[in-house]
Amino acid sequence: MDHFLYRDGQLCAEDVPVAEIAAAVGTPVYVYSTATLLRHFRLFDEALAWGPHLVCYAMKAASNQAILKTLAEAGAGMDVVSGGEYARARAAGVPGDRIVFSGVGKTRAEIRTALEGGIRQFNIESEPEMRAISEVASELGVVAPVTVRVNPDVDAKTHAKIATGKSENKFGIPIAKAREVYAEAAALPGLKVVGIDVHIGSQLTELEPFAMAYRKVAELTEALRGDGHEITRLDLGGGLGIPYTRSNEAPPLPVEYGAMIERELGHLGCEIEIEPGRLIAGNAGILVSEVIYLKEGEGRNFLILDAAMNDLIRPAMYEAHHDIVPVIEPEAGLEQSPFDIVGPVCESGDTFAKGRMMPALGAGDLVAFRSAGAYGAVMSSEYNTRALIPEVLVKGDQFAVIRRRPSFEEIINRDSLPEWL
Ligand SMILES: *Cc1c(COP(=O)(O)O)cnc(C)c1O
Repeated sequence: MDHFLYRDGQLCAEDVPVAEIAAAVGTPVYVYSTATLLRHFRLFDEALAWGPHLVCYAMKAASNQAILKTLAEAGAGMDVVSGGEYARARAAGVPGDRIVFSGVGKTRAEIRTALEGGIRQFNIESEPEMRAISEVASELGVVAPVTVRVNPDVDAKTHAKIATGKSENKFGIPIAKAREVYAEAAALPGLKVVGIDVHIGSQLTELEPFAMAYRKVAELTEALRGDGHEITRLDLGGGLGIPYTRSNEAPPLPVEYGAMIERELGHLGCEIEIEPGRLIAGNAGILVSEVIYLKEGEGRNFLILDAAMNDLIRPAMYEAHHDIVPVIEPEAGLEQSPFDIVGPVCESGDTFAKGRMMPALGAGDLVAFRSAGAYGAVMSSEYNTRALIPEVLVKGDQFAVIRRRPSFEEIINRDSLPEWL
């Protein structure tokens, strides 16, 4: 459920007509709903209320500080995957002891920054990284709280580019090798083992792959405790999928996910951490774009938008589907016809949808891409020297620009010419 609904024939973000935002800020523009962000965070928080837990929002999904602050004020922690994300989370006021640091290639500089600024735990992804964290911590005279990310070798049954839990993926340590790695971790002077971490992929639409992975984590917890390790925290990653179309089968709800976690892991008495990104931000954001031209071709009609693949890369990168809806509600029963919906970038991949049934639209009409809040703005680029588009946050009847559109001058002036030119 989200808060982007038609009211009196107008698509609204909470209580604000989307057309009003487009008129004030211009298009293309990302628009987020505070109520939807909070609703999704709370669904997870409540689903884990049976025990001690922390919901660490995977901020790579949508990392604007206004979004981070909205969630942090509601009690969220953050899952970060780079020094830049760590700095952003801190700038948004998230305390270090609510930040977990994931990612396969943490540099020594990033490790140092996090240790100096405060960190809840590092999720270790390899043995060399484990040694590096211990060394940096020892240099600083501190002890780094760590979990080891284990790769449970389960098939997440999701798109190949977002599956991470099979043995051929680059993530984590093979679960069969975990006891050996934990033994080394316990022996290293700069580390304190606090738990186990697992994350098997993104946009999972069934609970079974999670349950299979978590069963393996439960077995490993018992084995590691038997080896003398104190396992007090289980970080279960993110990955719960969202409905991208109204028609397809509904993915499991957070409440079902939380109940499954209790069934599989509740008896272990551990604090549970989860790292949802997509489910918190995905349906909390839309991308609003204007039709530049209706191009009538041979056998197909193109809607050419002012948004392009550099603004929303998911269709080009993951063959992802986004529902695209007119901002002015079409009259019921209005005839629809197929359109190819494309952006202006010089790549055939700059196609958002092919043969999509839409009501008659033309130049100047506004459309909204639904479910664009996660892995949308954060993956945008300036390809074709197109400016990063603005982000707007809505709360009730208020809206604010939370990232403004840069001028071309700002973009161009980041280049510097060598003295020989
Ligand atoms: C990307 C990622 C997440 C978030 O995944 P979602 O599918 O957005 O919930 C969580 N944890 C780790 C380690 C990740 O890399």
